[in-house]
Amino acid sequence: MTKRVTIEALADWLRDRDDVALLGHVSPDGDAVGSTLGLWHALVAMGKRSVVCLPGGVPKLYAHLPGAEAAVDTDAPLPFAPQAALAVDVSDPPRLGEAGIRVFEACPHRAVLDHHGTNEGFGELMLLDGKAAAAGEMAVALIEAMGVRLSREMAECLFVAISTDCGHFNYTNTRVETFEAAARCVAAGIDIEAITSRLYRTRSFGRTKLLGLVLAGLRVSEDGRMAWAKLTEAMLTQAGALPEDNEGIVNYLLEIEGVQFAVLANERGSQTKLSLRSKPPLDVSTAVAVPLGGGGHACAAGATVDADPEEAIRRALVLAEVALRGDTQGERCSP
Ligand code: 5GP
Ligand code: MN
Repeated sequence: MTKRVTIEALADWLRDRDDVALLGHVSPDGDAVGSTLGLWHALVAMGKRSVVCLPGGVPKLYAHLPGAEAAVDTDAPLPFAPQAALAVDVSDPPRLGEAGIRVFEACPHRAVLDHHGTNEGFGELMLLDGKAAAAGEMAVALIEAMGVRLSREMAECLFVAISTDCGHFNYTNTRVETFEAAARCVAAGIDIEAITSRLYRTRSFGRTKLLGLVLAGLRVSEDGRMAWAKLTEAMLTQAGALPEDNEGIVNYLLEIEGVQFAVLANERGSQTKLSLRSKPPLDVSTAVAVPLGGGGHACAAGATVDADPEEAIRRALVLAEVALRGDTQGERCSP
């Protein structure tokens, strides 16, 4: 049984540990990368040995973050045998990936810091705040609870974590605490213009081409409430893009006037990774992601399906259509 703990209890737990592995989820996003790196700087500042493990390593988009060079691909050999593991932004063990599960299970002490409401808990302890906009928001408070001064390096990583997970303070998950955590990062001396320019106003040529290829195949339902598109491996090759360049494309579908449900089907070999988005009050996690074996947040969720993109989209649309008819809508929706 996993014990739900307070931020102070997790701070005490970490203070008592050395040789800590910080584990992020598969397809690491800004929150997974930024939160693990931010906490890594804090543990190092406390004189501890620590390592950040991310499936596939640090994505190119975040490779400039301070400390990224010290992070390892979870599949690669670790620089030391960790005694404690902290899974960050990971909603369930499969999201650690196969190697991540192995590293986590091999540690004598295991804990979780997460903000996914669907997290049922794993490891010995879990700090869960389903209302936090990002794991990074919680990480800022955790660093404070450990008595560590927020350095500029930590702040840069954590601001990226917070900003990317709340749509740069646009989504409904943005709350007072989100701004407060971001304000602490600003107080630590980060360069907001440089960070946000790189994240939101700079795109590689390949990523831009990919956007065009995906949007060329965009479809909407007759009633205009559902939009879908696929992103095939052939498109990646044609555009000269990386798999991680899919990030953000699904939002273009959701932003179409009248659309309440959007799905982007990413071909991954014989499987399809679905990126699911909705507008309130549709709870896309409960209505679509969970029935397909995935999870996530009310308005931003995902699932990996053993099917080609066409079939995966068909399954998602069937579920979304039922939900849009009003059968399984959540009471409130925050990504
Ligand atoms: P994205 O579409 O950006 O990859 O994922 C959106 C959200 O859904 C993220 O917060 C992520 O945690 C969650 N998510 C994406 N894919 C999966 C999945 O296969 N399983 C689970 N449980 N959650 C997922
Ligand atoms: Mn997150």
